Amino acid sequence: MLQNVLLERQIYASEEHKMMRQMIQDFIKNEIMEHLDEWERNGMVSRDIWERAGELGLLCIDMPEQYGGSGLDFSFSALFIEELGKEGINGPGFSLHSDIVAPYLLKYGTETQKEKYLPLMACGKMITSIGMTEPNCGSDLKAIRTTAVDKGNHYLVNGQKTFITNGYMCDMSIVAVKTNPGTEKEGVSLLIMESALDGFEKGIPFKKIGMKAQDTCELFFDNVKVPKENLLGEEGLGFKIMMTELARERLTVALNAIGGAEGAIGKTIAYTSTRTAFKQPIAGFQNTQFTLAECATQLQLHQAFLDRCTQLVSEHQLTAESASMAKYSATDMHSKVVDECLQLFGGYGYMWDYPIARMYADNRVARIYAGTNEIMKILIARGLFKELFEQMKKESRPLR
Ligand SMILES: Cc1cc2nc3c(=O)[nH]c(=O)nc-3n(C[C@H](O)[C@H](O)[C@H](O)COP(=O)(O)OP(=O)(O)OC[C@H]3O[C@@H](n4cnc5c(N)ncnc54)[C@H](O)[C@@H]3O)c2cc1C
Repeated sequence: MLQNVLLERQIYASEEHKMMRQMIQDFIKNEIMEHLDEWERNGMVSRDIWERAGELGLLCIDMPEQYGGSGLDFSFSALFIEELGKEGINGPGFSLHSDIVAPYLLKYGTETQKEKYLPLMACGKMITSIGMTEPNCGSDLKAIRTTAVDKGNHYLVNGQKTFITNGYMCDMSIVAVKTNPGTEKEGVSLLIMESALDGFEKGIPFKKIGMKAQDTCELFFDNVKVPKENLLGEEGLGFKIMMTELARERLTVALNAIGGAEGAIGKTIAYTSTRTAFKQPIAGFQNTQFTLAECATQLQLHQAFLDRCTQLVSEHQLTAESASMAKYSATDMHSKVVDECLQLFGGYGYMWDYPIARMYADNRVARIYAGTNEIMKILIARGLFKELFEQMKKESRPLR
């Protein structure tokens, strides 16, 4: 019924997109839904579902075929993210693996690194994660303490990461480290670390208030010898690379949010059309109608902006500011929509058996990870006051 009021989205209008949408919906309905409770109990999904997604060509969708990907443009990846969001499927960290880790390798990896990792990632036989956050720093990434000391043919890595998505199941992680610590050449670098390396340990998955099937955990490095050829990009340029790639990561979070909002509104329209109170459907009350009218309007506005951002990613033109706007605004919108929708379910909305309850719990973290929404506003403001801030920096005047 939402489709009666939402404009058709041009980015998903082709026959290929329609076929892909159907295939994704069948995959979710027939191969994911029945496992959700079991995955939540286990705190992680099965490896089988990763391999199945790989078989269907749903991993590394916009990766060139040469490396095992589907060779499609980013709009197909966006479609997959939204469809998962619509049904509140937040267990398998497919998007982090395909839309964040894989592009790091494609853009900054050597040919040997790409050939070694990307085909395994595309078929789901290798699960990956990205380790930036540490117990003492998340927003302030320059403050990381994990060190990688140059030992000639390898780096010796010591330290710890936390809150790592796909952390427990991952076979490989791209890890941010401080190279040349304590010297003039100290800087942040990225290392490809295989979890089978001696000294690489994983914590048990965290117990979270939502995303319970997602194996978020700590990673520990105790004198891990990482071969020099596992350096990703240039030494000391890790921070710059992360800042560039975070734009795409933030858009993926925003896409999940608009998918989630669409799913929540759709489920609420269905529920309030059949549930009755005072001898009429809940949908008969003007409060219900106005609430859902406002939610649908917000969704439509965000879809229009995100469609533009999705197009810009395909053209490698998405700016940090636009990605930050998309991430903070879409996730704020999603939180409000899910809260309003849950209210319309009454007491049933608070019961885990109802998908709206899971959606409510799952969406909260989106305002925190991939950079908090406060950090997003800082990044946008930096763009607004760029010249002034540069001038103040030149004059060594404090920024705040
Ligand atoms: C479920 C989950 C999955 C995650 N997955 C990953 C992952 O795969 N890889 C990874 O590396 N990390 C991951 N994270 C970590 C996540 O990115 C960080 O939690 C996030 O960036 C915030 O960092 P922090 O937790 O250290 O909070 P802090 O940086 O301690 O921030 C605490 C509060 O202070 C505010 N704050 C901080 N600095 C400022 C400032 N300058 N101005 C105003 N307010 C400020 C923040 O907005 C926040 O409200 C995940 C987190 C969760 C919960």
